[in-house]
Amino acid sequence: MNNTFDSILKRLKILQPLMNLTDDQVKLLTTHKKISQAELEVNGEKYPAWRIMHNDALGPGKGGIRFHPEVSEDEIKCLSFWMSLKNALVGLPFGGAKGGVRFNPKEKNKDELEQISRAYIDAFYKVLGETKDIPAPDVYTNEQVIAWMLDEYEKKVGYHEPGMITGKPVEIGGSPMRKEATAQGGFIIIEQAIKAFGGDKNNFSIAIQGFGNVGLNLAKMLYGAGFKIVSVSDSQAGIFNPKGLDINQVIAVKEDKGRVAEYPEAEKISNQELLGLEVDLLVLAALENQITEENVSRVKAKKIIEVANGPITSEADAVLKEKDILVIPDILANAGGVVASFFEWTQNRTGGICPPEHLKKKLEFMMKDSWNRVYTLFQENDENIDLRTVAWTVAIERILAAEKWRGHLK
Ligand code: NAD
Repeated sequence: MNNTFDSILKRLKILQPLMNLTDDQVKLLTTHKKISQAELEVNGEKYPAWRIMHNDALGPGKGGIRFHPEVSEDEIKCLSFWMSLKNALVGLPFGGAKGGVRFNPKEKNKDELEQISRAYIDAFYKVLGETKDIPAPDVYTNEQVIAWMLDEYEKKVGYHEPGMITGKPVEIGGSPMRKEATAQGGFIIIEQAIKAFGGDKNNFSIAIQGFGNVGLNLAKMLYGAGFKIVSVSDSQAGIFNPKGLDINQVIAVKEDKGRVAEYPEAEKISNQELLGLEVDLLVLAALENQITEENVSRVKAKKIIEVANGPITSEADAVLKEKDILVIPDILANAGGVVASFFEWTQNRTGGICPPEHLKKKLEFMMKDSWNRVYTLFQENDENIDLRTVAWTVAIERILAAEKWRGHLK
């Protein structure tokens, strides 16, 4: 079964005895606080859209908006739940939320994208705001989409409020490091994992699924640091060269021709073949449900990092554990983006300005701190408890503590 909210429920049921969770606590964790749904009408066409708040005990909701033909309420419920855990794990004063619109952005021109972005805000502006729920970019939404959304929101409410959304262009209140921050955070976690579990950077092969904002930027950072990237892919196909790819050239080809498969010095492979490569590290940076019950037996990577949200189903996760393949979970690996969003939000609300170098240091501190918290508990616990279980435990304890202080739990 793929990652659906049912599989999150199953994971929580497994965690319940480990964490001594009461039924009331599980119920609270599995109940979404607010589900807002709308049909956006643009040029006679209708687009189903959602904004879902999972939990706001720690602070206003925070989480991206995705434009994708497969967006569904169930998917946004999962993504908002993971946002609650991620924000709690990293120690941010945010709850978890997420949004999306079901359509294929690749089939739309710029005017249509603008109309859909503005229609999204027209539908949901009442549940958004810097102290309510703060969106950000996600799959196939970029800083231009975010800029249109901010503009529409400010028109609706009649005043400036840049902190109502993050991932903005720098000129209208964005942070200079937000775009690369998720990749930067993932890079820091990879370095920490190599320190903890061993591995020689100069003799370390990596395959990366997904070559968008996160995958491309992470490839650039890893390549710059001397790692050997043997394979990358986008939604169309992958490329493989056991001697390593020249990532700067792959980026140039992707920018010029729109697909990595046009890169000449590599064998063309499918996304499924990439997932089965024998590499030191497999980086999942595309979408959820990529490693499932059906293909998990073919995975030969030594370690996996989930920089995408939910790329491994719970059934596949159990098999990877049996095969002793280490998985670094999404809520830790991709938290860099929301940490940078937190800096952007703080800056917008105080009117302060922070130099990018300072922000980079703060990001590094928070990512290392989160890694250390998870890794220390992982070492202290019995060997059978994986990194995901530890990360979920830390996050859930924080959310439940906040709920208890608020008097929502006995
Ligand atoms: P993006 O839209 O910039 O890139 C997505 C990439 O995945 C593209 O290269 C696309 O071609 C590729 N892709 C799509 N379907 C694929 C498939 N079936 N097989 C292989 N590749 C496929 O999105 P992004 O912002 O890079 O996000 C990627 C993942 O990271 C998502 O799961 C997202 O939720 C997660 N994430 C993103 C951020 C962020 O700051 N952007 C933060 C946290 C988590």
